[in-house]
Amino acid sequence: MKILRTVSDLQSFSRQAKAQGKSLGLVPTMGALHAGHISLMKEARKGCDTVVASVFVNPTQFNNKEDLATYPRTEEADCRLLEKAGVDAAFIPAVEEVYPADENAAAAHVFDLGEVAEVMEGAFRPGHFQGVAQIVSRLMRWANPDRAYFGEKDFQQIAVIRRMVSTEKIPVEIVACPILREADGLALSSRNVRLSAEARNVAPGIYRTLRESVEYSQSHSVEATRSHVESAINALPLCEVEYFAIVDSLSMQPVSDWNSPNGTQGCVTVYCGGVRLIDNINYRSGH
Ligand code: AMP
Repeated sequence: MKILRTVSDLQSFSRQAKAQGKSLGLVPTMGALHAGHISLMKEARKGCDTVVASVFVNPTQFNNKEDLATYPRTEEADCRLLEKAGVDAAFIPAVEEVYPADENAAAAHVFDLGEVAEVMEGAFRPGHFQGVAQIVSRLMRWANPDRAYFGEKDFQQIAVIRRMVSTEKIPVEIVACPILREADGLALSSRNVRLSAEARNVAPGIYRTLRESVEYSQSHSVEATRSHVESAINALPLCEVEYFAIVDSLSMQPVSDWNSPNGTQGCVTVYCGGVRLIDNINYRSGH
């Protein structure tokens, strides 16, 4: 596996693959890789001739300095996992490579992300999606992938990226991959390593509550289901819901009944022993 440190390395790697007529898949990550990330690499491996993963803790998407400072960084282990997953190249740039200090003002472009970015994570993490759009659009322009792979764990992020590539006219197919979970249901996340033993014990209750709410929803209104889930998760020890929203699976806008033609998604953010965890469920498929 090649390690690419500079933008020009990434651009040449991509040009070379394209010149050989190969399709290219891009998998953006912030590292501290786990099996959830690796499932995206495997999807990309199946769908594309060449796979590039990026490992970059993107400062512009953190609205909390402490979260950025304490974000786990495990480059050596990440490289071993990527190599084992059959990734062809890992792009691991320094911050100044992605955001040069002398960058001109035009590069600090404000993205038109529309209503999908205004609710939930957009409302609770000001600036977060602008930062995501900045990094993902740059990676896409440099790597020029045919397909880019994202996990449904960050359900709203996929909607925002679809919107971004459409308004920015970036010719790439967005592939959404299912959430990988621990055997007890907890969604895999780089932040799980921060959970205390006690918090790790209660955290699976988040997904258990979401799952149980699928049956509950069959005989209750959206608002009754919403408030039931919020109370049930708040009743778990150490857990405090930041928001639980039941939204249209495409527009991300809150719904008032279960008849949404695009499907209905329940999206939750919970502080569990002080660690911010997110998860979601689709009310049609039940997972
Ligand atoms: P991150 O490193 O947290 O920015 O995540 C990089 C990519 O991996 C994003 O597209 C995430 O949605 C995806 N991802 C993270 N956790 C999981 C998971 N448990 N299952 C599937 N995809 C995931």
